[in-house]
Amino acid sequence: MKFNTKTIHGGQKHDPSTGAVMTPIFQTSTYVQQSPGKHKGYEYSRGENPTREALEKAFASIENGSHGLAFASGLAATDCVLRLFNSGDHIIAGDDLYGGSYRMFTQLFSKYGLKFTFVDMNDVENIVNVIADSTKLIWLETPTNPLLKVADIAAITSIAKSKNIMTAVDNTFATPYNQNPLDLGADIVMHSATKYLGGHSDLVMGALMVNSEKLAKDLHFIQFAAGAIAGPMDCFLALRGVKTLALRVQRHNENALLVAKFLDEHPKVETVYYPGLESHQNHEIAKKQMRGFGGMLSFRLKDKSKESTFKMLENFKVITLAESLGGVESLVNHPATMTHASIPAIEREQLGITDSLTRLSVGVEDVNDLIDDIKNALKMV
Ligand SMILES: *Cc1c(COP(=O)(O)O)cnc(C)c1O
Repeated sequence: MKFNTKTIHGGQKHDPSTGAVMTPIFQTSTYVQQSPGKHKGYEYSRGENPTREALEKAFASIENGSHGLAFASGLAATDCVLRLFNSGDHIIAGDDLYGGSYRMFTQLFSKYGLKFTFVDMNDVENIVNVIADSTKLIWLETPTNPLLKVADIAAITSIAKSKNIMTAVDNTFATPYNQNPLDLGADIVMHSATKYLGGHSDLVMGALMVNSEKLAKDLHFIQFAAGAIAGPMDCFLALRGVKTLALRVQRHNENALLVAKFLDEHPKVETVYYPGLESHQNHEIAKKQMRGFGGMLSFRLKDKSKESTFKMLENFKVITLAESLGGVESLVNHPATMTHASIPAIEREQLGITDSLTRLSVGVEDVNDLIDDIKNALKMV
């Protein structure tokens, strides 16, 4: 099955009791038993729910995995992965992570004895240099948030495999339409389904996809034991979202490339970070491992003052100033004060998340309206 057919049919079956084409919202916590322990495979909805099951099969299908899991949020999915490890285990992560992942690693899991090292994953050598006997996981995000750096997934997973280290990839920015980390050797793919998988800014959800029965079982146990499952109503919405994933991401890719090129040529813009631009530092790796370059980009104005960037941000009319990304509507964000405020200022500066940086989630509106909106907002600077 090709990708766009999988988004619609992957792992799906019509409801056996009614023939409903869409899996209904099974809004139930519990299931009747004919005799103690004798039932139809469903006991209690923390463990299993038919709507969630349909979505989890769709998740597995679009990432070429054997199993998928749906969580209450992207961070709940990440939390589930980290609970595979024990006190004293070492984890290597990228230095340009989603702010909430960084916060979870440094403020929650470090309390329980997990050790983290953050490195620039642009260069595989940086990872090799910090691998220790206790290293159990490499956590990578590519393209990164917000600077759109691209890590070479195949190169990293091959080193990890040779040392028996697990790899997990946060594939939220790329989407399964553009990139499939399991095919490149990763053990776990994680998504904030809040973003492109849901696609309509109407739910918060996380996903994990794997290709191993054993790993799926371990993760499912944690999901069941810790309890951060996605509810049936949200699963229904996400399932509906996934069906148009291919269509949406095609347009996100096209629009973002055009917006990136426009910004790149604009006299008031200093730098554009978009892996689809030939000038991007990782364009070659991006071309190798991605089928499209996604809907996310960041840019920096020549005028470095916070006031100028804020002025532009206040003057968008079509594009909405809000956190989050990946919905059909374009959203713009000031990482230093919004999504990445939880990273200490000194570290933010070192990473390049400064006051002049703007992140844009390019939606699926008519691209000419988006470009006009940016043109007009930049006139105010
Ligand atoms: C939003 C996001 C997350 C966290 O997901 P939630 O659904 O908000 O919990 C993790 N990684 C990336 C790249 C994200 O954009």
